[in-house]
Formats: sequence, structure tokens, C-alpha cells
Amino acid sequence: MSQRNETLPTVTLKPGESDRLIAGHPWIFQGNVRNTTDGIPDGAVVQVRDHRRRHLGCGLYNAKSKIRVRMLDRERQQINVGFFKHRFQSALAHRKRWLGDCSCFRLVSAEADQLSGLIIDIYGDTAILQITSLGIDQRKAEIIEALRETLEIQNVFERGDAAGRKFEGLPEFPLERIHGDGQAPAKVRVGAIDFGFDPAKGHKTGMYLDQQLNYQRVAELCADRDVLDCFTFQGGFALHAKRAGARSVTAVDQSEEALQAADQNAAINGLDGIEWIHANAFDWLKATSSEDQESRDQYDVVILDPPSFTRSRHNLDQATRGYKEIHLRALKLLKPDGVLITFCCSHHVDRDLFEETVVAAAIDNRNVLRRVAEYTQAPDHPQIPTIPETEYLKGFAYTVID
Ligand code: SAH
Repeated sequence: MSQRNETLPTVTLKPGESDRLIAGHPWIFQGNVRNTTDGIPDGAVVQVRDHRRRHLGCGLYNAKSKIRVRMLDRERQQINVGFFKHRFQSALAHRKRWLGDCSCFRLVSAEADQLSGLIIDIYGDTAILQITSLGIDQRKAEIIEALRETLEIQNVFERGDAAGRKFEGLPEFPLERIHGDGQAPAKVRVGAIDFGFDPAKGHKTGMYLDQQLNYQRVAELCADRDVLDCFTFQGGFALHAKRAGARSVTAVDQSEEALQAADQNAAINGLDGIEWIHANAFDWLKATSSEDQESRDQYDVVILDPPSFTRSRHNLDQATRGYKEIHLRALKLLKPDGVLITFCCSHHVDRDLFEETVVAAAIDNRNVLRRVAEYTQAPDHPQIPTIPETEYLKGFAYTVID
């Protein structure tokens, strides 16, 4: 597939800027560039050289973006259907090997699959794309073709609401069909539960696929237990807990719409008796945990899966205060031999800081925690150690030492 094409426009890096690329990180910022050949069109394929003119690979150029070049390959490649098909097939092989047989999964996870700026989620015969790179956007037709040659896909939609688009000079829009004329499936199976599905709604491309394996691992701890699922969204953990035989399930979310979907999901799966509580989890946890010890409901399993409390490094303090507060409250609601299961999806709050925050809450509550399980994002959201941005979801289960 590689070709010797010396006529590609060239981006030459400053000294010291190539190590990160060689290690696999695909971003070249404006400040990393020494010079470029003249008149490179935005979206064009460029070859990248270090300051000694050694060849480092090729990528997609965009002068509008702070990320000047998104590397695609170590060789000079033609970025065509064959290139994308090769990438998609190797991404698929990774999923088949490590995720197992799932009808819904993330086929392409951007940088983690050497395709910076492209996310492809598969929901049965429907694919949903999110594009945050101008060069990728210009090659949508090739991407669709390569996708159809890789998997049996009838419909392809694109969600154009990702925050990064404006930084690339790409327009924002809610959802567009870009291939096929059928409907997206009305329900999809994630883990052991069927979820009502509407690609225009929901977060990300509709579902939290990154929790797919964790739903089942957590559910195993819930049989015959009283379970509290805070930040339940459409009921991911709550429904899995109920299906696994939880004695009672209480689930809290501040989104009325999400709870309606959760309740419909319960019906789709023939699960009843889950108590859906429409509330701000901070207020609800505070009020519920402030009741006196005797009258307070207590839970064998408390699950916390909040949204990211920070998208940047700047408000880390505020974010960790938020995390600490919900853990303090959750610990107060835990039965003495209960399990606290907690997730953090903020890239900026790393594993150690997250655990420090949980431990700080435990200390305030005069508890000593015993870590009994650790969780991470499902393998269809691969983690590349040299691309720290690919590592974001971490979770722990704790019991309290008596
Ligand atoms: N556990 C879910 C995903 C949670 S996403 C799953 O696996 O599917 C985060 C959820 O937190 C969203 O549904 C959002 O509505 C809810 N949320 C955000 N802030 C909240 C708050 N202060 N109180 C209650 N829910 C909140």
C-alpha cells in the first residue's frame, strides 16, 4: 500500500519534536512546526519530516486547527478506500479478540485506532460517525465505502455536534443520514439489556458503550442486594442489577428525559420494580444521607457514575470537591458490609487523583476502604500508553473495613 511519492507537500518539524510522534502520538501542533512547503490546502495529505529531513510518516494538514497535522501512518500512504479498509479491519479484529461478540461496539476510537478525528460506533446494521478533523471530513465517501466493505452496514448516520468541530472549521449539526434509507434500529443490546435507541438523542452516539463490560461485572455483585444507582442515565447499571436479581433498585438522575427512557427500557426487558428518582444527585444524596441513622435507607451496593466534572485542567479543584462530596454521602448510605462502586470518566482526573479523592471522603467519614475491584473502559475504547488522552474511564469497588 505504501507509495513513494516525493511530491507530497512537506511539513518539517523543529528539533526535539519527533519523539512523541515516533512513540505513536499523532498530533503535531503549530508550535512544533519549523516550516512547510507553500500553499498546502487544508485537508491535504502531507509528509512529515524531522529537522534532519528524516521521514516520519504522513498525516492530514489543517492550518485552521491548532492541531496542524494529524498523523495517519508511519509510511507515505495514499489515503483512499484501501487505507481506511485496512484500518477498519484491524480495528475490527482487535474488538473481536478482546471485546467478544457484541452487536454494539465502537469500531473506531479515533487516535486509539490511528484515525485521529474519526469515531465510528456500530449499532447492529447501523453505523454512527463523529468527525472532528477536516481532512477526515473530506474523505467521508471513502470512509463509507470502506466501512461497507468491512461490515454489513445498511445505514450510516453522522452526528455533527462534537465540540471539537468548530476548531477545525467544520459546521455543527445534530444528525444527518449519510448512507442508506432504512431506519436505525429502535432497540439495541448493550451488555445483557435491550435499550430503546434513537441516534439523534442520548450522549456520545447514543449509548455508553465504554461501560458495556462493567455493567455485567457490577451486576454480578447485585444479586439479592439493595442497590442504589446514582447518575443512572437510561438505566445502564440499574437495569443490569435488576436483571441479575437485585432485591431492590433505586436509580437517580436529574434528566427527566433520560429517566423516561430508562423506564421504557425496564418495560422492554420485562423488569419492574425499579424506583426512578428525578433529582439532582448532590441534593438527593445530601438529603437522604442526612436523615438520622435509624430511618435512613441503606444500600448493599451504591454505584456512582457521574458525568465528567471537568473538561479541563483548570477547574480540577472544583471537580475533586464534587467527587469528594458524592463519595462522602454515598459512604453514609452504605450498609456496613456494602460495596461502593465508583467511576470517573474525566481524563484530567487520573486514577491516582480519583482514588485520593475517594479516600479523602472515606477519611472524613472515619472509614478505611478496602479496594476489591478495579474497572476501566471496554476494549473497544483502546488505551494507548503513549497517547494519554485515550485513557479516561476508571472505576473502583470498595468495601469498608470494620
Ligand atoms: N451510568 C450511565 C451513564 C451516566 S451519564 C450509564 O452507564 O448509562 C451521566 C448522567 O448523569 C446523565 O444521565 C446526566 O443526566 C446525569 N447527571 C448529571 N449531573 C447530575 C446531577 N447533578 N444529578 C443527577 N444526575 C446528573
